[in-house]
Amino acid sequence: MSVLHIIEIIIFIAASFGIYKLFKAKKYQIPTCLAVITLLFLILLFQFVFLPGHSGPSISFKGGDHLTLEVGTNYDVNSVIATDGLSDITDLLKADSTPDTTKTGEYTIRYTLEYKGDVYYKDRVVSVVDTTAPVIELKEKTAFLAMDNYDGDITANVQVETEQQKDGKYLLTYTVSDSSGNKTTATRTVETLDTEAPVIELNGNKIKVIMVGETYKDEGVKAIDNMDGDVSSRVQSDCGGSFKSDVAGIYKIQYTAEDSSGNKSTATRTVHVLNKIGYDSSLWKTPDGKGVVYLTFDDGPSEVTIKNLDILKQYGVKATFFIVNHNYNESTKPIIKRIIEEGHTLALHDGNNHDYDKTYGSKTSYLEGINRLHDQVLADFGYDARIIRFPGGASNQVSKKPSPGLMGTLPKLMLDNGYLYYDWNVDSTDATTTNAKDPVAIYNNVTKGLKQGRINVVLMHDIKSKTATNEALDDIIKYGIDNGYNFAAITEDTPLVCHNATNV
Ligand code: ZN
Repeated sequence: MSVLHIIEIIIFIAASFGIYKLFKAKKYQIPTCLAVITLLFLILLFQFVFLPGHSGPSISFKGGDHLTLEVGTNYDVNSVIATDGLSDITDLLKADSTPDTTKTGEYTIRYTLEYKGDVYYKDRVVSVVDTTAPVIELKEKTAFLAMDNYDGDITANVQVETEQQKDGKYLLTYTVSDSSGNKTTATRTVETLDTEAPVIELNGNKIKVIMVGETYKDEGVKAIDNMDGDVSSRVQSDCGGSFKSDVAGIYKIQYTAEDSSGNKSTATRTVHVLNKIGYDSSLWKTPDGKGVVYLTFDDGPSEVTIKNLDILKQYGVKATFFIVNHNYNESTKPIIKRIIEEGHTLALHDGNNHDYDKTYGSKTSYLEGINRLHDQVLADFGYDARIIRFPGGASNQVSKKPSPGLMGTLPKLMLDNGYLYYDWNVDSTDATTTNAKDPVAIYNNVTKGLKQGRINVVLMHDIKSKTATNEALDDIIKYGIDNGYNFAAITEDTPLVCHNATNV
């Protein structure tokens, strides 16, 4: 209210009082008095409401000072009006922002008006809300999709409840909420329930080895579903876009199979691309520059294996056990089971009783022995052992007598059959006659051999006479931990550590 208004009201009251006095003095009749007072009042009202400059400009919002908008709709910029008396001065309005109606939230917009040398402003609050519930689309069999106007695909958030009815059918209830808490439920009844994903079987070996520059041809997979049958043609394969057959490295190819009920399964194939077969220390560098220790034990299992497992367990360290067939029997099966269950790698060393003349007796005798041992482990434990170590290493001389030149072809034969072979780059010397019974010598040879920045494959043994190795183990692990080494078990993702063959 301005001074002008107060003056006007005083004049109005004074005039009304004057007229009342004149009435009392009987100069006027009542109707005339009322008519004059009403006229005065109307003039006053007109002044107040309509005359420019009288009450200042006003800013008003159609839809209210606090507007609520559904996300995705438009904010009407014409819903703000500025007037001064009867004249529209909306063109002079300036807004400091516009609400982002694609995102939920509360926005405050300041409207400013510069008018006749003064600045006026008024704030408007716009709440952008999502009140639209998601939509669940029921697809073929038990497949479904949940889409939300705001969150997009939220299929992964759907909760499915299954309830078997009296008639043996299943009532499926799907429930999902969007990020604003809007909930949708859908139900359907199905005769049978398919919760089993397709089973993927790789064509060819799970591990492939090729040379740099060689063309890699993927052999694909077979995928069989319990309900849909052969879904091989629907399998998606992905190598993460990184596969380069001209760069040495380890690549993973992932296969995904999905049945019509939306059950998914995956399988992977590992491809090693090598510069050459044999010694290649360029593969040993670790990505983070830290040293990694792969403790390996040959020729077990035996009762010493149990003692080694106890120490490894105490430190949470994983190792690799290269077993031989002649130490694989009913009494050592629990040890093999323990190796697998405690997360170590069960690897294969020899399937011909570690008898070099038999092991290396022909071009294929080593492979045949390993295959037999592999199949036995698979049958007994469901474990697909794919890591091997040649007796005496790939650099062995012992194959020379039965098969001259054998190691010129055997490494490639094993790789082509889906086995990765690992020699060692740190020798504990626990197989030598001088050091076999000397824990200090074993400890010294291992710790001197370890190098930072690379993978270290440590050769040790766990036949029952190797108690000195067991005695040195605790301190070897302590040394590794104290010096910042990581410990790991060899897997198909471990770069090859190989010797050059000599019997070629
Ligand atoms: Zn051996």
